[in-house]
Amino acid sequence: MIDITYYRPESIFEVIQLLQNTDGLLLAGGTDILPRIRKGHYPVKALIDLSRIESLKFVQEVNGWIEIGASATHTMVEQADILQKSVPALVSASHSIGCLQTRARGTIGGNISNASPAADTAPPLLVLNAEVVIQTATGQNAVPMTEFFIGPGKSILSANDILTSVRFKHPLGRMGSSFLKLGKRKGMAISVASVAAYVHLDNDGCLDEIRLAYGSLAPTPVRGYTVEKNLIGNHPTLDNMQKAAWKCEQDVAPISDLRASASYRLQAARVLTIRALQKALSQAEEVGV
Ligand SMILES: Cc1cc2nc3c(=O)[nH]c(=O)nc-3n(C[C@H](O)[C@H](O)[C@H](O)COP(=O)(O)OP(=O)(O)OC[C@H]3O[C@@H](n4cnc5c(N)ncnc54)[C@H](O)[C@@H]3O)c2cc1C
Repeated sequence: MIDITYYRPESIFEVIQLLQNTDGLLLAGGTDILPRIRKGHYPVKALIDLSRIESLKFVQEVNGWIEIGASATHTMVEQADILQKSVPALVSASHSIGCLQTRARGTIGGNISNASPAADTAPPLLVLNAEVVIQTATGQNAVPMTEFFIGPGKSILSANDILTSVRFKHPLGRMGSSFLKLGKRKGMAISVASVAAYVHLDNDGCLDEIRLAYGSLAPTPVRGYTVEKNLIGNHPTLDNMQKAAWKCEQDVAPISDLRASASYRLQAARVLTIRALQKALSQAEEVGV
């Protein structure tokens, strides 16, 4: 039998106190941590359940920023009107996670805090230039998502921190975003490779903003800076996109594992880059000039 003390605080203040005074681990939806505890991967003495903290469960827009509480479930994200209209990349990523039950329990905060290279919400948040809001014992910090992941399963969160929300500027104008994921099968599969794209077009139809990010293709989710540099300011023709997409090998560092070889992953990244860009562009083009 596993002997674990269970706490169910009602405020973020209480969580911070428990983190300081116990060896507790945070429990959100439990879809990741509970299977690991059962398998004996975590020598956990205490669990701090976040489910009673209502102030972590929201999707809102304030002063041109969209903010999502850490305990918002993937279902809340995929169903939020504002996200469906403005950030299809994040909605698709949330919709692609596990099954209905996993999405109803699993949270965006748990997905990011895990810091898995395959965390599906990470690439869309990277292309949205998102910030992660972290509550520490001494105050609140907002950290760019690009600085959050530091290695497989490792982030800048310390044992006494709680991630409270993620936020990004509400994307406006001739913009589009997309997320594509390749798995071993259609449903319930951890991605072999994933790509998110964000584009914004100027009045001449040139790319005046472009951001790409990759999942399962490096030790952490990463931005596709080289591909971006090769496309910014250009017309997004198929030829331009193909030439740029081939350079993604400078942005990613795929490995071979049970699910795919490194060379297959690289090839998948190139093809997914072009398709993700085409999908994001079709949304941007619908907006008109
Ligand atoms: C069947 C199945 C299928 C899955 N499919 C996918 C998939 O397709 N794509 C994918 O990306 N993931 C997938 N997952 C993994 C998992 O469901 C997601 O990562 C989920 O979002 C985790 O969220 P959670 O709320 O359940 O996290 P939990 O399991 O509660 O916590 C995960 C980790 O984050 C920490 N944590 C949680 N909340 C916070 C917070 N607010 N601040 C700081 N730390 C926190 C916990 O301490 C723990 O270490 C799958 C899991 C299962 C069981």
